[in-house]
Amino acid sequence: MKDRYFYAAKVALANFSKWYGSYPYSTLSIVVPPAEANGAGGMEYPTLVTSFGAKSDSPDFNELERTVIHEIAHQYFYGMIASNEFEEAWLDEGFASYAEDKLMEQEFTANLPLPIQAAIITSPASLTQSAWKYGASDIYAQNAYYRGKLILLDIEKQVGAKTMRRIMFNYSTEYRFKHPTTTDFQRIVERVTGRSWKNYFNQYVYGDKMADFSVDHIQVYTVDSKDGPAYESVIDISRKGASYPRWQYCSRSKTDIPYRRLGMWITTPCRLRSNTKSLWIGYKSTRNTRSFWRINTLTII
Ligand SMILES: [Zn+2]
Repeated sequence: MKDRYFYAAKVALANFSKWYGSYPYSTLSIVVPPAEANGAGGMEYPTLVTSFGAKSDSPDFNELERTVIHEIAHQYFYGMIASNEFEEAWLDEGFASYAEDKLMEQEFTANLPLPIQAAIITSPASLTQSAWKYGASDIYAQNAYYRGKLILLDIEKQVGAKTMRRIMFNYSTEYRFKHPTTTDFQRIVERVTGRSWKNYFNQYVYGDKMADFSVDHIQVYTVDSKDGPAYESVIDISRKGASYPRWQYCSRSKTDIPYRRLGMWITTPCRLRSNTKSLWIGYKSTRNTRSFWRINTLTII
């Protein structure tokens, strides 16, 4: 088991040094508490982290390596890149979670279910509000860890992996041993991409907006195609959250099927063709009416 802790630490230091600047200290201590003392696990201090003690002989990656890697990411995100972990916790936990996911994917092909993590966020709040103002520890965690990480992944999706690596590297190296704020990070994003991110940051980061759409109505029609029966679905969707992302799946098509106009977001019917009748898989939070949907298979027609 010792080898696994060490291997996780080695890949973390090697890759994070490449991605976020070299690890400048000569030591790093990993304290592994016994499983019954795991209350002391999962903590980070400069040059010292605590991990979780294994509860079985062969714990999975998410139980063992993930914590080691997350805590070592904190050597950067709040350690060397010394943001204020109380006043802007997402720069600490959101960034460490992002780095952790990247490395877990690369080294252990261990991915977390992002749609489910998104669905956990039932109380979105500003990421720049002080940690003690979230009111409850789970609301703090939803925002600082999950929402913070998902926003970084969303930025990456918009700019591409290569540009995102440059953003993270520039931010980490320019603010090494300094005290950056969210505005400093925004400035780096804007400088690297050469455009304003004011509207995006105002909604998602300083504000409490999320991507939030609801599927109001679906009507499925059977149509003939040369490959046998196919299904066309006319879907009414409304926007409940931020004005990003812009809707891209629907194309303007001529149709006599009635549809509801969807305001500034989309004024044409959303018409999709699939080879299965069930076009949507839904993840629905039980805690409020927020819904998150993933498209199964579709062709825009
Ligand atoms: Zn953490």
